[in-house]
Amino acid sequence: MINVTKTYLPCRKKFHAYVDKIFESGWVTNNGQMVQRLEERLSSYLGVKNIVLVANGTVALETAYRALDLKGHVITTPFSFVATTSSLVTNGLTPIFADIDPTTLNINPNEIVKSITKDTTAIVPVHIFGNGCEVDEIQRIAHKNKLKVIYDAAHAFDVKYKGDSILNYGDISTLSFHATKIFHTIEGGALIINDDSLVQKVKHLINFGIENTESIVALGTNAKMNEFEAAMGLCILDEIENIKEQRKQLHHDYLEGLCGLVKFQKINTDSSINYSYFPIILKNTNQRIKVQSALNTAKIFPRRYFFPSLDTLTYIEPTQFMEHSRDISERILCLPLYPQLSKSEQKTIINIIKSTL
Ligand SMILES: *Cc1c(COP(=O)(O)O)cnc(C)c1O
Repeated sequence: MINVTKTYLPCRKKFHAYVDKIFESGWVTNNGQMVQRLEERLSSYLGVKNIVLVANGTVALETAYRALDLKGHVITTPFSFVATTSSLVTNGLTPIFADIDPTTLNINPNEIVKSITKDTTAIVPVHIFGNGCEVDEIQRIAHKNKLKVIYDAAHAFDVKYKGDSILNYGDISTLSFHATKIFHTIEGGALIINDDSLVQKVKHLINFGIENTESIVALGTNAKMNEFEAAMGLCILDEIENIKEQRKQLHHDYLEGLCGLVKFQKINTDSSINYSYFPIILKNTNQRIKVQSALNTAKIFPRRYFFPSLDTLTYIEPTQFMEHSRDISERILCLPLYPQLSKSEQKTIINIIKSTL
């Protein structure tokens, strides 16, 4: 069976050595050595100033909203993983969708402008599949309308924009380090905070609002990463170049093998890519179903990333209708892409798609 992705597991001996260290110290969570070390290493690897590790990518988003005191309406993309929208709703915010550009699959800045009202307080774009958003244009719109910007950068680990980390755009960017992501800590996530004055607040928010044993200064939650998770991250970070190289090769071979048969995501020319996903866009729903069932018959399971379009969720006002997002979500598939995928398995996938179309 071949799934869309397979969790990358690092050198077992190295992980065991970290586990031994944790046992020796007896310190398993609450900002321990491993978490601190991983924060330092990621900050330098990614080229970002302030990084705070948390329990997962969803609480990273929620913590960002709370740190920035968001209220009212927040403009976001309907084409993403459900957590981008659900995290807003569970925090009492109203998601207002701005449709995507059907070629880049990212939120369309012109649609953002059309959706701004007096109730709007922020924009939550997603660098979908790691393709950089039009960050300069979004910044201009946000500045003009006094809006906060939180990038859900769950897919954008180590993506560069004009040579600099894309995570340095917006007030806060969030990452997910879930086991299915390109870099992971089993479960985990991070906030990249561009305003230095917010760092301490975020650290309080992820630990019940506790400042020290004597005082509680904010309404917080428990969103801490533990030492075992950080140890996994330290191991994987040692192997990340190798992981990227293998993914890059597979990505290249998919492009070559499927060129002319299906449509690909249009990549922002100012943005690098990290080879985390390989989406293909079919002509219509029928063609998508045909390709999907042919692959399934061969025990190959691409994923419908992303379906459904988030404007169709039961807890969203039914008046919102995002034409491009609904259309794309009907005919997009993400193909298997992970370091252990063999060349021959990939050939099989390409050949099945070829013969179906
Ligand atoms: C994975 C993902 C999340 C959620 O991250 P978790 O670590 O699973 O909580 C949020 N947004 C996007 C776009 C994602 O892909």
